[in-house]
Amino acid sequence: MTGPDRPGHSSFDLDAATRDRLWRQVTAALERYCVDVGTLAVAPRCDPTAVRSALAALSPDAPIAPDEAVRMVIDGLRAEQLHASHPGYFGLFVPAPAAIGIVAEALAAGFNPQLASWGHAPFPVEVEQWVVREVSRRLGFPPDAVEGTVTTGGSEANLTALLVALHEAVPQIATDGLAGLSRWPTLYVSTEAHHSWRKAARVAGLGDRAVRIVPSDAASRLDVRALRRMIANDRRRGLQPFLVVGTAGTTACGAVDPLVELRALASSSDLWLHADAAWGGAAALSGKHRHLVEGLSDVDSLTLDAHKWLSVPMGAGLFLSRRVGGSRAVFATDPTYLPASSPTGIVTEPYQESLQWSRRFSGLKIFLLLLTSGWAGIAETIDSCFARGARLRDALGPRGWRIVNRSRLPVVCFRDRAARRAAPGHHAAIVEHVNRRETSWISRALLGDSREAIRACVSNRRTTDTDVGVLLDELDEGRRLAREHDA
Ligand SMILES: *Cc1c(COP(=O)(O)O)cnc(C)c1O
Repeated sequence: MTGPDRPGHSSFDLDAATRDRLWRQVTAALERYCVDVGTLAVAPRCDPTAVRSALAALSPDAPIAPDEAVRMVIDGLRAEQLHASHPGYFGLFVPAPAAIGIVAEALAAGFNPQLASWGHAPFPVEVEQWVVREVSRRLGFPPDAVEGTVTTGGSEANLTALLVALHEAVPQIATDGLAGLSRWPTLYVSTEAHHSWRKAARVAGLGDRAVRIVPSDAASRLDVRALRRMIANDRRRGLQPFLVVGTAGTTACGAVDPLVELRALASSSDLWLHADAAWGGAAALSGKHRHLVEGLSDVDSLTLDAHKWLSVPMGAGLFLSRRVGGSRAVFATDPTYLPASSPTGIVTEPYQESLQWSRRFSGLKIFLLLLTSGWAGIAETIDSCFARGARLRDALGPRGWRIVNRSRLPVVCFRDRAARRAAPGHHAAIVEHVNRRETSWISRALLGDSREAIRACVSNRRTTDTDVGVLLDELDEGRRLAREHDA
């Protein structure tokens, strides 16, 4: 068949035969990647000038055939990216996407519902609210007294938390902005907190200095006594503390701030308590490990990133809050061009309760995962990462490595026990050796004492004991070479 067939006459629609070829081409590539990603180099070396010049040869003035374009993209994705889906990837929190999540992405793109308002997308909006309720229930939040939104990720969820807490503490901000505030609002995070808090404070117009950095203890956990002193001091200085953030699973070393003590302090100081549980919050979804994030069910609001440990494709987080109505206080407006909310007033209007307006159906991938794997399947995935993490931690000691973080989450930070302080770059050289071998990928972390450590995190359910063994051998070899070099 030539030329576009129904329903359009635009090159955008393609013809039925071409579409059919494209769908097959794409599913074949996805299936192949799912099966063979472990045979690729985890972090292929990439020559930026070669990539750029290949792209420079392309031009919208000279369109190419769709299957040729798609093939080129598939080749690029296979050859020129760090393959976090590889079972030897021990890096940041980017698991291989769950298959059902990929299906969800295709459905969301193809049916393309507009989730800004309930009236445009009753089923999708209700699906996302189902996700909010079910995840809340599992975390121990009261499912009927909770509000929440599916966000693009942890950063948007954190920004939402900051704004909601700020508007509750200083309601006149909604109309007057920051102008005329007699006391500057401040929030409290630990030295180990994610830097998205800094961005959020800048976006909100508060600035870096509103982000008060609380010292951490020897286990990299927020020091609650120091926090109490800082809050009191800041109040004396005429500042207005409004938000305390406890991280459940810090990025560098997996520390979990003492949420129970933070709850007590936040309540007695009349502050909003938010848990940034973007990665580590998933531990609460596993019956076996939920005690590691004790207190998570008692915070005012929390961030949980579905595209981290829950393994849905990139672009889905959750903001959950037990202060119902808080989101509307920040985001509600009344445009005349949208239909009024349902007369019963019982539906959620996402555009009135979140930062986004036009909204993609990102909650679908969480919904389908919950529906098909169930809590049991999710717990099993999470527990398997814990098991591999424990195996790695246990094997490092006898091989002459010193574990330097105290987290029980599956992120392990360690140093060469025999490394002389006078060998700068020793650990960096080991990391470089491992990554250059292209069978495993690890990173580095700076811990509280500013000493560099090697960091390996298991967040990929495909990682097996064999993959852990490969990493251990590469580490030993890298250390041998680095010592030779130092000598
Ligand atoms: C990843 C992460 C974030 C940021 O989330 P994004 O999804 O990358 O925007 C914030 N806080 C913590 C603790 C994280 O691990």
